[in-house]
Amino acid sequence: MTKLAFERPIIQRINAGLPSKYGLPRHIEPLSHIEGVSIRELLSRYGSPLFILSESTIRRTYRDAHRAFSTRYPNVQFAWSYKTNYLNAVCRTFHQEGSWAEVVSGFEYDKAIANGVPPEYILFNGPDKTRDDLQKAIKNQSFIHIDHFDELYEIIALTKELNQKARVAIRVNMDTGIYPQWDRFGFNYENGEAWDALNRIMASTQLELVGLHTHIGTYMMSTEAYKTAAAKLAALAVGLERKHKHHIRYIDIGGGFASRNTLRGAYYPGTDTAPSFDDFAEAITSALMSSELKPETLPMLILETGRALIDDAGYLTGTVLANKRLADGRRATIIDAGVNLLFTSFWYDHDIRPVEATSEQTEDTTIYGPLCMNIDVIRGSILFPLLKKGDHFVIKRVGAYNNTQWLQFITLRPKVVMIDTQGQVHVVRKEEKLETINAQEVVPVHLDKIEW
Ligand SMILES: *Cc1c(COP(=O)(O)O)cnc(C)c1O
Repeated sequence: MTKLAFERPIIQRINAGLPSKYGLPRHIEPLSHIEGVSIRELLSRYGSPLFILSESTIRRTYRDAHRAFSTRYPNVQFAWSYKTNYLNAVCRTFHQEGSWAEVVSGFEYDKAIANGVPPEYILFNGPDKTRDDLQKAIKNQSFIHIDHFDELYEIIALTKELNQKARVAIRVNMDTGIYPQWDRFGFNYENGEAWDALNRIMASTQLELVGLHTHIGTYMMSTEAYKTAAAKLAALAVGLERKHKHHIRYIDIGGGFASRNTLRGAYYPGTDTAPSFDDFAEAITSALMSSELKPETLPMLILETGRALIDDAGYLTGTVLANKRLADGRRATIIDAGVNLLFTSFWYDHDIRPVEATSEQTEDTTIYGPLCMNIDVIRGSILFPLLKKGDHFVIKRVGAYNNTQWLQFITLRPKVVMIDTQGQVHVVRKEEKLETINAQEVVPVHLDKIEW
């Protein structure tokens, strides 16, 4: 019989508050496997820390979302938001499922092309499209979503130089009852700017107006806001039919659906509060169907859903480095994954689990990353079981924004692996090495020699 590990006894105040309608906080269940693959084995094979993606979860979530919309509306198209996670393996999984690409920079545009996306299936958004980017998008007949008047005029000038028409849509911002309003992108609906832009586009012989676009916010919990947005874009489309006899090809409602992560400080977990794809689909499609848009000319409905499609498919796993007591007596656990890898820990209370079975005992714990920075806090306060040095943890729902917003800072970024639908594991991004970083640097000759 092996000797049981010593656990220091602790005295803990019982908070005799009322349980929420979801019950009292439960024991934190360990998570040892993902898609039947042992996390411990993955760590020993690929190193710690490690990002793990589940291809099955991506496909299942995508199909769930697609079904929710396509059963309610005749013509639905998703476009994968590259900035949410532009690892090629992730993008290609979405493209195999039928997604177009939604990009917000020349770099992302080129990445989509390199992933084999036909240019006419790329939606080019954002306020920062260079002259070269625009030229390329015009030549390729991609859909350019115009953000401001300066861009509109530049596109008109370019189409004349190139002697080629451009396919354009405008991004519209509006009051959807959510404040602060996201009014820095696109043309405003209420003050008439959107109509001004549309009239100018219709007056130009060089521009083909193909659609109307909006993206009303991110991590949106309100389906009502989408209903308002869809109704306002439909009103613009109806106005275009009346005034210009022009039918647009699509209405693009953007992204922003809340994922099932829990916002920092939220009382209820995101798994209980995030509306489902069916809820969002019901709000959006019912607004379009009950508008004055005619059934025979209903435009295609485009969704640029990002975080809600990928968050659940990503995990970050790693190893406990140490435990210590803080000055106020609270326990601190230091892990080998910091905020440089997990940018989203600034706004989410991430669901973090032990990989191995632990005792039932939990204690109020702060979980720190390994960086020499005070801000490196993965969880400020969590009732967590005692993990010892060398034990493993796994953080759920990290698929959105972390693999794009991560920083190379103090430590090198680790491998990302993807478990395919057959349970096979693939490295989809190699770990960084000193040479990876040094390859980008140039040392001036006079700094070559150092005398000691
Ligand atoms: C970021 C972004 C998206 C995706 O947003 P999520 O909140 O991740 O769904 C979609 N469209 C545009 C224009 C964006 O900038």
